[in-house]
Amino acid sequence: MKAAVIEGPGRAVVEDLPEPEPAPDEVVIEVDSAGICGTDLHLLRGKLPYPYPIIPGHEVVGTVVEVGRDVSNVEPGSRVTFDPNIPCGECYFCRRMRFNHCLNWQGIGITRGGGFAEKVAVPGKVIYPVADMPFERAVFAEPLACVVYGVLRAEPKPGDMVLLFGAGPVGLLLLQVLKVAGAASVTVVEVMEDRLRLAEVLGADRTVQAGHEEALREEAPLGYDIVVDATGVPEVVSRCADLVIPGGKVLLFGVCP
Ligand SMILES: [Zn+2]
Ligand SMILES: [Zn+2]
Repeated sequence: MKAAVIEGPGRAVVEDLPEPEPAPDEVVIEVDSAGICGTDLHLLRGKLPYPYPIIPGHEVVGTVVEVGRDVSNVEPGSRVTFDPNIPCGECYFCRRMRFNHCLNWQGIGITRGGGFAEKVAVPGKVIYPVADMPFERAVFAEPLACVVYGVLRAEPKPGDMVLLFGAGPVGLLLLQVLKVAGAASVTVVEVMEDRLRLAEVLGADRTVQAGHEEALREEAPLGYDIVVDATGVPEVVSRCADLVIPGGKVLLFGVCP
């Protein structure tokens, strides 16, 4: 099968590789689509501490074509996506339901082969069916799930003013979920002009070009109730605390290298 492989920092190639065989607890998915996440770019640029070579891609949809003998929750032909996080289920943190801190964590497309390939093998336990949802929509399931969880943690209240840095694909998802979750207003700061225009179409109450942040002090002299970073840029993250109201909340969503 063809697969995109990051061989090391800055080096990505398309290779012919053997097709994956499912372990007893795994299924093999024929990939239809896979999204490109900022994490994939961090891997390509050598900003994350995981070993190479790696097939990236953790936002994936496709059709199950093979099922290991111990898998009973899914059948060949099922249209599916998956949670790329594989917690061990046994360590100190897993036993406290804090799977994101798992000491033996594996990430599909991060520490083991991902979906920038014609086929990918994943544990049956991380599979989610997408029924008849078109794949081009279902491929947003993983980033949207992360966004929904982040907004649940931030808990916007009626009347809350929210400041959002970054209007890339994830920032725009955050914008829409924050509005649905009850934020009174969402102000979006972004470098790229066309992304600001799209943010306006998708419900931003105010857009501010990065570099013109003096407007933020005028809008919220005491600070914003919630400040969200969706850039992962350390310089932006370092300013979030200055812009949040005392007692407010900062949601660090972007992955900082
Ligand atoms: Zn991601
Ligand atoms: Zn664990």
